[in-house]
Amino acid sequence: MKIGFIGLGNMGAPMASNLAKAGHDVTGFDMADVVIEGVAMAASGAEAAKGAEVVITMLPNGAILRAVADEVIPAMEKGAALVDCSTVDVDSARAVAAQAAAAGVLAVDAPVSGGVGGAAGGTLTFMAGGSPEAFAMAAPLFDIMGQKAVHCGDSGAGQAAKICNNMILGVTMIATCEAFALADKLGLDRQKMFDVVSTSSGYSWTMNAYCPAPGVGPQSPADNDYQPGFAADLMLKDLRLSQQAAESADADTPMGQLAQALYAQFVEDEDGKGRDFSAMLPRFEQRGRE
Ligand code: NAD
Repeated sequence: MKIGFIGLGNMGAPMASNLAKAGHDVTGFDMADVVIEGVAMAASGAEAAKGAEVVITMLPNGAILRAVADEVIPAMEKGAALVDCSTVDVDSARAVAAQAAAAGVLAVDAPVSGGVGGAAGGTLTFMAGGSPEAFAMAAPLFDIMGQKAVHCGDSGAGQAAKICNNMILGVTMIATCEAFALADKLGLDRQKMFDVVSTSSGYSWTMNAYCPAPGVGPQSPADNDYQPGFAADLMLKDLRLSQQAAESADADTPMGQLAQALYAQFVEDEDGKGRDFSAMLPRFEQRGRE
């Protein structure tokens, strides 16, 4: 398949590389100078998109996606598909899909979970929104770049699934970390805390699979001095998107709102920037009740 790939950063570069390795004809574009074996580089987004059956974007945010879509959609052929894998706000995903539809171009919003490791290993999970026809065009490429793709519904549904999942993740991580910090102050051994909670009704992915306490549970970023993993800055981005969506949909999300405020404080006023999102545990450890 002839593929254009725009946005070749930490995630996009390994994803494009996997498509090229699988034998697809990939032309890439990034604002930065990027070299990827097997991927031809174009001088602009429009040039990368020209003649492509599928154009994939992997960009930082919705404003940049909208700007790239303005340039790229007019360069695309009717019947081609624009597949955005970035994490962006639901409104931008829907606006770009409408713009594509008006030009006879199919659109899929397909944010991912799995991080840089999943992108490199081809084991991402895609959550997709768009018509069945658009999803069917992108599905063989999802199979190469990932291990699972869920068609969640119409345009915007992929982004909606992603931010709802990550809102649960952010809230749960905070709850797990504050419970560990309380357990410490009550003199409870962390291993015992893990042994009980991981097999009791407080269990969760953050406790059982990504335990924020070093030396306890499976290997996790906590065992690597809280190097990300999934950076607190990226969690903050996703929590902000969830609250933006909650505002526009008039949804009451008090826990999500509080999680956003705590991660904002952690990243912007404390030492959370560049650390894994589970470094909330040492943060709580250092604090008392005010
Ligand atoms: P990144 O900053 O490493 O990559 C973004 C790339 O887009 C950069 O190379 C940048 O030069 C390029 N770019 C910016 N504006 C451009 C333009 N107008 N035209 C062409 N290229 C442009 O970010 P990343 O970590 O690769 O993340 C990409 C997306 O994936 C984000 O939306 C992020 O939220 C999401 N995501 C990231 C992770 C992760 O662990 N890194 C996990 C899941 C989802």
